[in-house]
Amino acid sequence: MALDTLDLGVLIAIVLAIGIYFTKGSLWGKSDGEDVSVPRGSSRDLIEVLSTNNKKALVLFASQTGTAEDYSHKFAKEFQSRFSIPTMCGDLADYDYENLNEIFTSVDGFQLVIFFTATYGEGEPPDNAVEFFDYLENECEDLSNLKFSCFGLGNSTYEFYNAMGKKTVSTLTEKGATLVGELGLGDDGRGTMDEDYMAWKDGLFDILKDQLSLEEHELVYEPQIKIEESVLTVDSPEVSLGEPDAKYINPSQEEAQSLNEGPFDHTHPYLAPITVSRELFNSDSRHCIHAEFDISDSTLKYTTGDHLAIWPSNSNEHVFNFLDILGLYEKKDVVIDIKSLDPTVHPHLISPSTYEAVVRHYLEISGPVSRQFVGSVAQFAPTEQAKAHASKLGKDKELFHEEVTSKFLNIADLLRVLSDGVKWTSVPFAFIIESVAHLQPRYYSISSSSLSDKQAIHVTAVVEQEKYPNVDHIVTGVATNLLLNIQLAQNKVSDVKPVVTYDLAGPRQKFAPFKLPVHVRRSTFKLPSNPATPIICIGPGTGVAPFRGFIRERVAQAANDIGVGKTLLFFGCRNSTEDFLYKDEFVDYSKKLGEKFELVTAFSRETAEKVYVQHKMLERATEISELLDDGAFFYVCGDAARMARDVQTVLVRIMMSERKVTESIATGMVKNLRVLNRYQEDVW
Ligand code: FAD
Repeated sequence: MALDTLDLGVLIAIVLAIGIYFTKGSLWGKSDGEDVSVPRGSSRDLIEVLSTNNKKALVLFASQTGTAEDYSHKFAKEFQSRFSIPTMCGDLADYDYENLNEIFTSVDGFQLVIFFTATYGEGEPPDNAVEFFDYLENECEDLSNLKFSCFGLGNSTYEFYNAMGKKTVSTLTEKGATLVGELGLGDDGRGTMDEDYMAWKDGLFDILKDQLSLEEHELVYEPQIKIEESVLTVDSPEVSLGEPDAKYINPSQEEAQSLNEGPFDHTHPYLAPITVSRELFNSDSRHCIHAEFDISDSTLKYTTGDHLAIWPSNSNEHVFNFLDILGLYEKKDVVIDIKSLDPTVHPHLISPSTYEAVVRHYLEISGPVSRQFVGSVAQFAPTEQAKAHASKLGKDKELFHEEVTSKFLNIADLLRVLSDGVKWTSVPFAFIIESVAHLQPRYYSISSSSLSDKQAIHVTAVVEQEKYPNVDHIVTGVATNLLLNIQLAQNKVSDVKPVVTYDLAGPRQKFAPFKLPVHVRRSTFKLPSNPATPIICIGPGTGVAPFRGFIRERVAQAANDIGVGKTLLFFGCRNSTEDFLYKDEFVDYSKKLGEKFELVTAFSRETAEKVYVQHKMLERATEISELLDDGAFFYVCGDAARMARDVQTVLVRIMMSERKVTESIATGMVKNLRVLNRYQEDVW
């Protein structure tokens, strides 16, 4: 019997899981040797690691994209400094939990465990926390000695807002653990993660002073890593110039070949050639890039509906600006050794490296600044005035919003404004590495089909370039402007001037011509296993990306005489001439699929009244209801903030009118579709 897509997906997942299980440590760890990012102790025994390192508090993170990890490190550092309690920060995947309850009795003076828990997808735990929650639910019996606090990182535009943070608290307390303080709820959806964190942290510190009688000290920077300038030069073969991981630095011929063999994940990407890139918009000011990554020379695999993680680097302009304000531009090629002063602290960096490589490839330098950063960098200000201003901003939420957030300043911009251009030469580079978030991969819904495009992964990315009123610069996104630059260079486009430029050749020219580090993240957003099942797809803007993959899959199936069900796609954009993604391709798919494919378009700026996909859904209410009756799967992709919710509301309305039921019954029907996995979302 032939395997269908779902079965194949399940099979691949099982094989991968077995592979990961048997290679644990070697797959999860980065390479050894010079890579100081290896976050592995010699033991998975928490008590042993805490005792050996004389730690009295523990911060554990469940992190998918790295944000929870960044916050947990930040917290551990401040907690240790403020209360003089040696604190360890660890990855939930690195330890066994059988003796979690005994930490408090076995480690002399142990105080508290603090969890930073992100929520992933439809309320699922991040990959690194799956085993932990499995243990809690199925094996753990008693945690009555455990005192813990928890900060959840979520997005209120998603249905399962902060589900894992809530679950951490409910499961631990069910097992008898004591929650200290309240569950913190960080909300990325409202853009308040940083302020939510600060409010939770300050509240928790007050409680800790009170309940655990902890004594608070003035916050002084205590480095946990040491930076030393090296005698090596930028040409020395062992120096990392920003290679995606240590394996990419001067591999032997044999090792170079193995770089194509994976496994590829968030610790080790594949350097994939972009063979095709093109502009999808017809506009002077807006861009959307279609890019095709060739995976034919590698073992990298995907299935339709997965996500591609693209590892970006920062633009030349942002790198220059950042190095310059720190007075490091002249020293950009100086080689530095990065050493951990605490055996439990493992910066995500390869050592030795250069100032420039660290700034360009590892630090998130162009995004918004956190208020905490401003408060703590004040101690290194070059002038008394800058110091006073930075301290004030660090303490005053409203002022910070007015002077920093609303002006879309990044770190370098802000430092420049604060000091009136005077360079901040006293800021230790160790402080920069420890305080600035890591540059994380960006995820893209794959817009190709693993059936029709076996050797290539396509993505569809709208370029983030925004000119806000009263802001004197264009605010740019890191990865999408990099893709735009690649598209312009690859197609030799000379009449479009990018806002920012990049070093496209990459470290040691390894990214030339047009390669980027990528890995695939498995997704649960999948076509029905039976190709004959009808599907209804709601994908305005770049939300159409995975549906292009779905349709290409069905075109390939139809070409192989597999009977495919109807695909009803609702696509929306501003107008039919500017941003109608894959307009010509859809004509072609229509020809190939005939009545099995229908595209319904909503153009918001072609009529006096704005028309969105939700309006078009209402016009097709009867057909949607009938298709659902026939077992159709319903998919939504794109904007999580408004569109996904509106679509759900409209579907409830459709059920009410077509099935003549009350709102609560219609809501129940839609919920049931979700339970049956027939209502799937891929939203961001
Ligand atoms: P970033 O550098 O991450 O910037 C993010 C935003 O912050 C931008 O709008 C930028 O203008 C703004 N910003 C920059 N600097 C500042 C500052 N100093 N102050 C305040 N704001 C600032 N996107 C797609 O286009 N297509 C897809 O198919 C797609 N699929 C996705 C699937 C998933 C599962 C997820 C999670 C996301 C998906 N995204 C998709 C979004 C994508 O991952 C990126 O978030 C997006 O492309 C922006 O990345 P960037 O690096 O260009 O911007």
